[in-house]
Amino acid sequence: MKLTGFNREKEIFRLIFDRKQFAGAYIFSGIEGSGKLIFAKNLAKSLFCSQNSFFSVCSCNDCNLIENNSHPDVIVVDTEKNTDSSSGESASSPKDSIGIDTIKELCELAFLSPYRGSYKVFIINDAHKMTLQASNAFLKTLEESPQNTLFLLVTHLPEKLLATIRSRCLIFEFGRLSKGELAEILREKFPDATPEDIEYACDLSSGSVKRAIEYIESATHIRTKNLYFDDINEVLDTIYRVNDKDGLKTLLEQLYINLLEKYREEKNNNYLTISNYLLNMLNMLQSNINLNIAKADLMIKLYGEFSGKS
Ligand SMILES: [Zn+2]
Repeated sequence: MKLTGFNREKEIFRLIFDRKQFAGAYIFSGIEGSGKLIFAKNLAKSLFCSQNSFFSVCSCNDCNLIENNSHPDVIVVDTEKNTDSSSGESASSPKDSIGIDTIKELCELAFLSPYRGSYKVFIINDAHKMTLQASNAFLKTLEESPQNTLFLLVTHLPEKLLATIRSRCLIFEFGRLSKGELAEILREKFPDATPEDIEYACDLSSGSVKRAIEYIESATHIRTKNLYFDDINEVLDTIYRVNDKDGLKTLLEQLYINLLEKYREEKNNNYLTISNYLLNMLNMLQSNINLNIAKADLMIKLYGEFSGKS
C-alpha cells in the first residue's frame, strides 16, 4: 500500500534533493499524531542514508543512528517533559517547554561542521513550546546559520510560533492519514505485530499515528504480561497489588485494550460496558479519586461481571 498522504510532500522533497536546493527551515504542521515527526526523521534518513534510500526502510548505520536519536548530525530537540535525559538545568522554564538553554546549545551546534555527512539537521518537535526567550534565540540562529543547516520545526500549533520565525520557514501541512497509510507505517515500525493488531490499531486511532503506535505497544506489552480476563482472579490480584495511581492507570489502560480485543473475538456486549467503565475510572484517576476507593470499586465491578465466566 502506498503512503498517498505523504506522496505530495515526498515528491516535493525528491525535487529539492535532486537540485540540492534546501530552504534553511521547514515547518511540518498537522494534527497531533499525524506522522509529522516520523516524516521529519525519514527526511533526515534520506539525506544521510549510505544506501541512498529515499523514504524507504533501511537499516544502514546512518539510518539506525537517526532512528535511535544518536546521529551526530541529526539533533532532535524536544520539550523537557518528553526528553528522558533532561539535565534539569533550566529551572526558569516550565517542564513542558523548550527553554533557552536547549536552544542555545542547538545554536552552538548549528555553527559546527557536519560530522558524518554534508548537512546538519535539527528537528524541533513541538516547536510551538519554545519559550519566548528560546524563540528569539532561535530566530537569530535562523537568520545567521550556515547554508548546509536544515531546521525542521514539527508542530500542531504553527500559529503559536513567532510570526518572524514562520516567515522564514516553508510550511508543509500534513493531513490525517488513511487506514492504509497508517498500516504501512505500523508494519514498518513493528515487523512482529500481527495483522490483526495492525488492523485494530488503525480502526481505533482515527488517523493518528501516535495513537496507533501506543495501541500496538500496549498490545505487545499485554501479551508479554499475559493478563487476560480469562482468569478474573489474576486480574483482581494484580489490581490489589498496585500501590500508586500511575501504576493503576497503566494497568487499566492495558486492561482496556485487552478488553476490546476480547470484544473483537467474542462480540460480547458486556465487554463494551466494562470498557466504558474502565474509561470512566481512568478519567476519575486524573482527578482526585482516592486510590483505595478506586481499587475497591474496580474489584467489585470486575468481580461482578466476570466471576461467573471463569
Ligand atoms: Zn540507510
